[in-house]
Amino acid sequence: MAYTVPKLTDYSPGALEEAASECVGACAGEAAEVRSEAELKAFRDRWMARKNGILTQINDLWLKSAPKDAKREAGIRVNELKARITETVEAAHVGGDGNSLAAEQVDISLPGVRRPIGAEHPVMRTWHEIVSVFQKLGYSVAEGPVVETDYYNFEALNFPPNHPARDTQDTLFIAGQQSKPQRERLLLRTHTSPVQIRTMEKMRPPIRIVIPGTVHRNDPPDASHSPMFHQIEGLAVDNNITFGDLKGTLDHAMKTLFGSSVKTHFRPSFFPFTEPSAELYVTCFICGGSGKRGADSCRPCKQTGWIEVLGCGMVDPNVFEFVKHNGYDPKKVSGFAFGMGVDRLALLKYGVDDIQLFFQGDVRFLQQFG
Ligand SMILES: [Zn+2]
Repeated sequence: MAYTVPKLTDYSPGALEEAASECVGACAGEAAEVRSEAELKAFRDRWMARKNGILTQINDLWLKSAPKDAKREAGIRVNELKARITETVEAAHVGGDGNSLAAEQVDISLPGVRRPIGAEHPVMRTWHEIVSVFQKLGYSVAEGPVVETDYYNFEALNFPPNHPARDTQDTLFIAGQQSKPQRERLLLRTHTSPVQIRTMEKMRPPIRIVIPGTVHRNDPPDASHSPMFHQIEGLAVDNNITFGDLKGTLDHAMKTLFGSSVKTHFRPSFFPFTEPSAELYVTCFICGGSGKRGADSCRPCKQTGWIEVLGCGMVDPNVFEFVKHNGYDPKKVSGFAFGMGVDRLALLKYGVDDIQLFFQGDVRFLQQFG
């Protein structure tokens, strides 16, 4: 029911207060109900119009008809009331009072903002898989510096002084080293093999280690080359280690990595730091060794059914000579070593045809591995 201004008979402060708060409450209630510009205008006129507006009525009914002794008190009350009504009317707007609060309300039942948590990079995933295969065989992880001396990168690994791998077309050297003797010159290591020597200098035999890390070569980037890539090296040294141990270990590792049905195959090769040396091939895990994918030929194995995965061999006795003082007498100990390219295995494993995709940081590419 719409508010009408009551006539007052009781002018006590309590009665005035009660009448005033009833009036303010009614005004605020009507303000909250305003739903259009037309309603807003009607609401303002009803309360503020000079001719017969509610404030004018209050002036007439409460103040002018007040008994003489109550006039002063009634005057103060009515002025206060006018101020509060004016404020309420001026603050009124279309949509009513309730809606400004509704707009600020937080819906606590909404789901929160999800931030993508990221995923392991395909190269790092392959890296961790390979390392864990050897950790389960009792190997520990060793690491070494990326900036190496010629001694650890070449000399102690039995590279002769004029070996072509030292050529600046293959190796990235640190500038300004010409005044130093060759063995002290700094370079970006071209393989993780220097860590073999560094580890044998610190630890006496027997040892079993895997060495993951980044390596650099002076290769311009293309679909299969990158000036920076990743290698995992392995080394086992003990009494009576034979080529049979090498074959058994790597056969087990390949079956764990690529599935129990892969076959392994060793072909003679050459590396300065192993003798004899071999390249390890596994049956193509894409075509299963047939060389065909349906009617098409299998590209990753070039239709041969075999994929080269790593180089390996028995540690050359000349390498042990460099660490003989720490218990590696080539007459008493023997060992094997192997090294593989992590990026190359990741390319094969995930069917990626351009190594550059691994290093460009394109989220559209990387999201596929999330
Ligand atoms: Zn194939």
